[in-house]
Formats: sequence, C-alpha cells, structure tokens
Amino acid sequence: MGAVNDLVIDGCAVVTVDAAGTEYRDGWVTVRGNRIDAVGAGKPPAFGPEVTRIDGRGCVLTPGLVNTHHHLYQWITRGLAADNTLFEWLTMLYPVWARIDEKSVRVAATGALVSLARSGCTTSSDHHYVFPRGGGDLLAAEIGAASAVGLRFHPARGSMDLGRGEGGLPPDEVVESIDDILAASAAAIEQWHDPSFDAMVRIALAPCSPFSVTGDLMRESAALARSAGVRLHTHLAETDDELDFCLENFGCTPAQYMEQLGWLGSDVWFAHAVHLDDPAIAAMARTGTGVAHCPTSNGRLGAGIARTADLVAAGVPVGLGVDGAASNESSSMIEEPRNALLYARAVGGPRAMTVRAALELATMGGARVLGREAEIGSIEPGKLADLALWRLDTPAHAGIEDPVVALVLGSAPPLAALIVNGREVVRDGVVTTVDEAAVGADVAQAQATLLAGA
Ligand SMILES: [Zn+2]
Repeated sequence: MGAVNDLVIDGCAVVTVDAAGTEYRDGWVTVRGNRIDAVGAGKPPAFGPEVTRIDGRGCVLTPGLVNTHHHLYQWITRGLAADNTLFEWLTMLYPVWARIDEKSVRVAATGALVSLARSGCTTSSDHHYVFPRGGGDLLAAEIGAASAVGLRFHPARGSMDLGRGEGGLPPDEVVESIDDILAASAAAIEQWHDPSFDAMVRIALAPCSPFSVTGDLMRESAALARSAGVRLHTHLAETDDELDFCLENFGCTPAQYMEQLGWLGSDVWFAHAVHLDDPAIAAMARTGTGVAHCPTSNGRLGAGIARTADLVAAGVPVGLGVDGAASNESSSMIEEPRNALLYARAVGGPRAMTVRAALELATMGGARVLGREAEIGSIEPGKLADLALWRLDTPAHAGIEDPVVALVLGSAPPLAALIVNGREVVRDGVVTTVDEAAVGADVAQAQATLLAGA
C-alpha cells in the first residue's frame, strides 16, 4: 500500500483547472504530506532519495474527479429493469433493495468505490436512503469501504417516510418514521462528520425525492442540517412523471415545492435537475443551489437532458455524478464529462459546452457543489493532493493533439496513478489499497445471494 509523504510527478502535461486555466505541455507537481506544494513547467526542483518520483512521461495530470451523486449499494443490483421508466424501475427494485444489510452494503460499496477510483475519481458523495429494519449500520459499512479503498467520501444519510400506504411510491417496508430518521441523522453527524480542511468524511442529510418523502421530513431535515452545519441533498426534477406527481399532489413544480420547503440555498445540491423552467434556474442561481448532473443515468432511464448550458450560464454550481449503479452499470467517472458534453451539444449546438468546460464540471464544478472549492478540484499550491495521472501513450490515445481532448473525447484512458490526500490508491491501472480480484468475487457472491432471496 503506497503511503507517500513527499512526492514528485514530472514529465507530463499538467491541466490545473485553476481560475486562469493554466496548463503545461511538459510540467511537474510536487506534493508535501497531503498538500500540493508546487506546480510548474519543465524540470522540477532537485529532490532527494526520500522523495517518491512518478515518471509522468506520456501522461496528462489533472485534478482528481469529484463524483457528486451515487448510490453505492446498487453495485450489487445492476443489470435489472434495463428497458423501463424510472417509476417502473424503482417499483421493480424496491423489494430487492429491501433485503440489503450491513455486509452486502460493505461489499457493494467497495466494488463501486474501486470502480470509481479506476476511473479517476478521488472524492465521491453517496446518497443512501434504503434502511431495512434489522439491516445493521449501513452508513458505517460504506464509510468503512471508502476508508479501505482510500477515497475522500461525502455520504449523505438519506431517508424515505412516504410509503405506498400514504400515497408515495416505495413499499411501506422500506420507509422509516420521521423520528427514527432524525435520530439516525443526528447520530451520523455526531459520529462521522468532519468539518476540518482536509476531511476524508463529511456527512450530508438527504431525504430521497418528492415522491418518497413527506414535506415535514424535508423541513425538519433542513433544520437539523442547518443547525449542525452540514449540507442538504435530494433528487429533483428527474422525470416528467415526477413533475406530474408534484403538480397533482402539491399544485406546483418540483422546484417551487423545494422553495416552499426552504430547500434552496448554497448548502443544498439537487441530483438531476433535468426538468427546470427559467424561473427555477433563476431561483437556483440567486440562492447558489447546486446541481449534480448525471448524464449517463439520465440517458439510461430516458429521463431527459438537463439544461447544463443554461445552468452554467446562470451561475448555478454544476458538478457531475455517475448516479446509482442500477441506472449506470459502468459508473465510470471519466465517462461523465464526455456524456455531459455530447448531450449538451446534441440539444444546444456546437458551442453549448467546450471540452475544457466539461473537465471543469468533473473537477472544480463538483468541488463547488460539495462546498470544497478551497480544498480540491484544481491543482494549486496549498490544495489537497488529489490527483489523477492518465496514460495517453496507449495505441488508443497516442497522437491526439490536445491532451484534454484525448481525455474527454477519446476512449477512457488507463490511470498511471491516482493520488488521494497524498496517498497512492491506483498504480498502473490497478487499485493498490484492496485486492481487486477478491472484491470482484465478493460482489458476485453478494449479488447472487440478494437476487436468490428476492
Ligand atoms: Zn440517484
């Protein structure tokens, strides 16, 4: 396992994604402890034998990618309901999800996080909202998995309290009471939330969606989060079905409903935000409410295409997310900027999103959405050493003139290295913190057991 203290990566193209868009065709970065020390062009400063050197020739170095929306537990429920709408897909999957427990969540989360690491992700959020009675401590299971793999982690304590008996979509056996949810949320913040500069774990609170939670739970979760200084997250405006549900049940759009509940603000980010009208975008921009854009999942479920160009132009913080693996079997973080760009241009024309803007969404955009723009998202001295070194000398990438184009529009390149908080997590395309083969075997076993019992 490659703990590194002082590190130099040299001989590579460096794309810093800083505010000035600084890039070097032949550059270097030095790391001291868990922080970036310096970055520059040409030869790095002289260093001694105690410093680990990574030869970056043939590679491009970028900030580690930031994943702003996921459901890690779904790693063991992939490949189901592949041709269905969101509401059909959910209805089919809820009974399977009702059987997850601490052990299966740990296995699923490990598999999902290994895959994220292999695709350049250094910080991931997770939105966990299924807590079957007697299932054990599912939040501890996924936090343990993130710690073992070595990624920076923002687990959101999710929840559902609006079962089918009350007019919601989920079956009653997977919903909890408001009191239980608030007690568990407060305990999660108390036990796990770390507000410090280089935190590896930060908690958010995340009632699931307008069609699976009550307005009371939304209001009370917001009050608790704000008193504790943690962020708020939920799904919003993902599909036309959800829009119809809100118009029918609340007499307003999903975004208007959030505004009434006090759920707009710079401490809030919404997953998807596909079906927004102009006033909704203006309200989100005015309040600094963020978006986790999940293009691959939105395509998989045929949900629609988010108005990313309009959101960015309005000043809304936008990051990218793979979303749960049950609606994105690859869950590859490096595919998201590519798909974000292709979708934006497909609906908005050739100037809707530049290649560099797509990479920025996956790095600084995600950092802003998670409230960590001072710490991660760009390669700048003093920021945390979360770095992805991508091989561009493979037959698939060699000769693509611009390294950012190769990264965003070429096929997903292998990683020469992934560094998180100054520590090596991937080397030569392989996760070095856990046994990849054992993880694969555990995932297959957990999936088979879960499906056999459903
Ligand atoms: Zn989701």
